[in-house]
Amino acid sequence: MSTTPSFDADVAVVGLGAWGSSTLWRLAARGVDVIGIERFGIGHELGSTHGATRLFRVACLEHPALVPLAQRSRDLWRELEASSGRTLLDQVGAVMLGPKDGSVVAGTLEAAATHGLAAHEMSLAEVAERFPQFADVDPTHVGVWDPDAGVARPEEGVRAAVAAARTLGARVHADTRVLEVELVPGGVVLHSSARSWRVRQVVVTAGAWLSKLVPNLPLQPRRTPMLWFRPPTPDPSFDIANLPAFIRELDGDMAVWGHGAMLGHGVKIGMQDVGRNFTDCDPDTVDRAISWERDVAEISALVARTFPGVDPQPESVIACLTTNSPDHQFLVGRPGGDSRLLVGGGCSGHGFKHATGVGDALARMAVGEEPHSDMSFADPDRVHVDRPSLLVLR
Ligand SMILES: Cc1cc2nc3c(=O)[nH]c(=O)nc-3n(C[C@H](O)[C@H](O)[C@H](O)COP(=O)(O)OP(=O)(O)OC[C@H]3O[C@@H](n4cnc5c(N)ncnc54)[C@H](O)[C@@H]3O)c2cc1C
Repeated sequence: MSTTPSFDADVAVVGLGAWGSSTLWRLAARGVDVIGIERFGIGHELGSTHGATRLFRVACLEHPALVPLAQRSRDLWRELEASSGRTLLDQVGAVMLGPKDGSVVAGTLEAAATHGLAAHEMSLAEVAERFPQFADVDPTHVGVWDPDAGVARPEEGVRAAVAAARTLGARVHADTRVLEVELVPGGVVLHSSARSWRVRQVVVTAGAWLSKLVPNLPLQPRRTPMLWFRPPTPDPSFDIANLPAFIRELDGDMAVWGHGAMLGHGVKIGMQDVGRNFTDCDPDTVDRAISWERDVAEISALVARTFPGVDPQPESVIACLTTNSPDHQFLVGRPGGDSRLLVGGGCSGHGFKHATGVGDALARMAVGEEPHSDMSFADPDRVHVDRPSLLVLR
């Protein structure tokens, strides 16, 4: 694509968090004239992409189409590692535990069987021998070992993608908030308080703020605490080398997930978004202060039961944001089929691992190519309530 003088760029990416930074990189890698606009700094701690680590899995149990997306993402994370010289993905493996027919075990094994992945069942005796850190294991539960899984690094990933995009010619405006996305005949005008940009099309990857810029997307931002724990005295069995990534389904709808200590942090342990410590929020007014009652009490009790080797008083707690869609799948594509607008959002708490694959898919859509793998499961129109005139979006 070539830019005519009346356009500031062919494509603008609004929001350079996990998905936007990768979209910018993949567009720049295709030679597209692209600008990226981010309201905070690059790799900041106010959205969904902070806290040092995220679980990475290929045997995704949330939707069959996520497996090829994760495979593409892994290839691109490796490419970005090679070009940036940074470690972005630690393939330390993951252990899954739960009822044989539960979503964690059955979902992982089904994804592995369907796609010929290496994840395989593990007996409880083997789990107990290799991972004695897990306590109070239900004797009817089973384990799965997934050697393809591991831990990805969010802030590093964002910084690496933006740096790679810049090297390839993308222009980046950080600390610049887009106030309005205005769809006009033949293009889009983006307004900030200081200036505006006219582009042919826009990719809005604004995370928890996405539905503020593109209305009528039924997305719900959620305040989600993130916690780290330590053994009372140093204990290497809780280091990442001995306690890899894990997801453990407990009774009811509850599950805990996390991984061993790494990068100077303790053991990360989180819980399923069914606890009382997850609350709907407005990302502009969200209360980031931490309280024992709201953020810690429930998970601390779970930790005392399931990981008695760590102090149930966390060493640190921060607030993070997820953005749920009604079916907990992503929104990636063109709402209403509008050729000027692409969105990427609705991460629903499982989107970081896929950031490079989603960025690649959005970049391909922007230039009129088919995504690397089928993204129809993420079509925003499946959940697009009302189909208003999209002429002025705020
Ligand atoms: C506690 C927790 C645990 C998680 N665990 C995992 C996990 O283990 N594995 C996994 O894969 N995923 C996990 N996730 C989900 C993952 O972190 C998210 O899917 C991912 O980070 C979402 O990225 P994003 O690009 O949609 O949002 P963000 O990274 O927040 O990016 C959106 C960007 O848009 C910018 N922006 C917003 N409005 C504007 C505007 N008006 N103008 C300009 N810029 C704007 C924001 O500043 C931000 O930088 C977890 C999330 C949380 C909160």
